[in-house]
Amino acid sequence: MVDLRGQYLRIKDEVDSAINRVLMSTAFIQGPEVKEFAKALSAKTQNAHVVTCANGTDALQVAMMALGLNRGDEVILPVHTYVATAEVVALLGLEPVFVDVDKDTFNIDVKQIEGKITNRTKAIVPVHLYGQCADMEPILDIAQRNNLFVIEDAAQAIGATYTFSNGEAKKAGTMGNAGTTSFFPSKNLGCFGDGGAIFTHDGALAEAMHMISTHGQKIKYHHDVVGINSRLDTLQAAILNVKLKFLEEYTNKRNEVAAYYDKALAACNFIERPARALNSTHAFHQYTLKTKGIDRDHFKKYLEDNGIPSMIYYPVPLHLQKAYRKPEFGVGSFPVTEQLSKVVISLPIHTEMTNEELAYICESIIAYPKHA
Ligand SMILES: *Cc1c(COP(=O)(O)O)cnc(C)c1O
Repeated sequence: MVDLRGQYLRIKDEVDSAINRVLMSTAFIQGPEVKEFAKALSAKTQNAHVVTCANGTDALQVAMMALGLNRGDEVILPVHTYVATAEVVALLGLEPVFVDVDKDTFNIDVKQIEGKITNRTKAIVPVHLYGQCADMEPILDIAQRNNLFVIEDAAQAIGATYTFSNGEAKKAGTMGNAGTTSFFPSKNLGCFGDGGAIFTHDGALAEAMHMISTHGQKIKYHHDVVGINSRLDTLQAAILNVKLKFLEEYTNKRNEVAAYYDKALAACNFIERPARALNSTHAFHQYTLKTKGIDRDHFKKYLEDNGIPSMIYYPVPLHLQKAYRKPEFGVGSFPVTEQLSKVVISLPIHTEMTNEELAYICESIIAYPKHA
C-alpha cells in the first residue's frame, strides 16, 4: 500500500544526518528539534499553535482533557472512522454519540448532527476521512448555536484546505477549537515510529494542552492538573523536520496518482471512484472505491492474486464492534456506514508510485472477470 523505503532513500542523507545529530546530542526527550518542528509546522498551518505529542490518539485525548470535557458528557462523531476517535471518548468516560456519514464524501452527515444533540452534548469531532475535510462551515455553525466544542480529527488530512463561503481558506485541523493529527509512518506526513500533534488558535488552550501532555506540569515536578505522558521523541521530530519540507510535494504526488486512477478507471462500470467535496481539497490519504454489483471481497482476492495490495477501511462499523455496541444501535442503525463497510476498497496510493505500477493496477482492475 505504501513504499516507505523508497521515500526514505530519496532523502536518506538528510534524514541520516538529522538522526545522527540527535544521537550525538543525546537530547532524546524534548530536544531542540521538537520545538523547531512545532514552529515549522505552525508556519504551514496558518500560524496555529502546535502542541506535539506521542501519537494521533493521544492528540485527541489531550485536546478533550484540555477542553475540560467531563465524565458523562456526550461527544458526537462519525460512525465511519478509525477506532481511535471513539476510543479516546470512551476512555475518558465520555459518551460517544455516533452519526452516519455521507455516502459520497464518506464524512459525517451534517444533516444528522442536530438530531443527536442533547443537553449533555459538549463537543463534535468531525473526522476528515481519507484526506478530505468534513463540511466544516455548517458544523462550526451548529457548534456555535449549541455552544459545543469542535475537535477536528485531521489524522488523514494534513495539508488539505477547506474554503468557506466567504472565500476564506483554512487548513485541516485549524478550524475548530482544536485539531489533531498523526505522524504514524503511513500517514501523509509520517515519521519512523509514532508521533502526533494538536493545532489550535487559542493560546491558553495550547498552553493547557502542552501542560497536560507533560504530566500536568509547567514547571518540572510541579503538577497543577492531572496529565499524561505524551511527548514527541526528539528523533521523530528531527525526521519530521526533514520530511515536512516535502509535504506539498508528497500531497501533489498523491493527487497525481488519484488523477491517474480517476482517468484510467473512468469507464469501469463496477466501481465508483471517490467523489470530491465541493469545498475541500483532497490530500488523498486513501483512494477509496465503492464496488457496484460485484462481490467486493472476491474482487479484493482477485487483486491479491494479481499481486495488488488493497485494504478495507473499515470492515466493521464502530457501532457493531464488541467494545462499542449498545443494544439500541444494532444492525440497520447506520445504513450508509454499514453499506460502505461492504463495498469500500482502497487502492495503493503513495509518493513513490510509478506510471508502470499504476498502469498495471488499472489494467488488472479493468480485466476483472465480473461474473467469475
Ligand atoms: C491514524 C488515525 C488516528 C490515530 O493516530 P495514531 O497516531 O495511530 O494514534 C486517529 N484518527 C484517525 C482518523 C486516524 O486515521
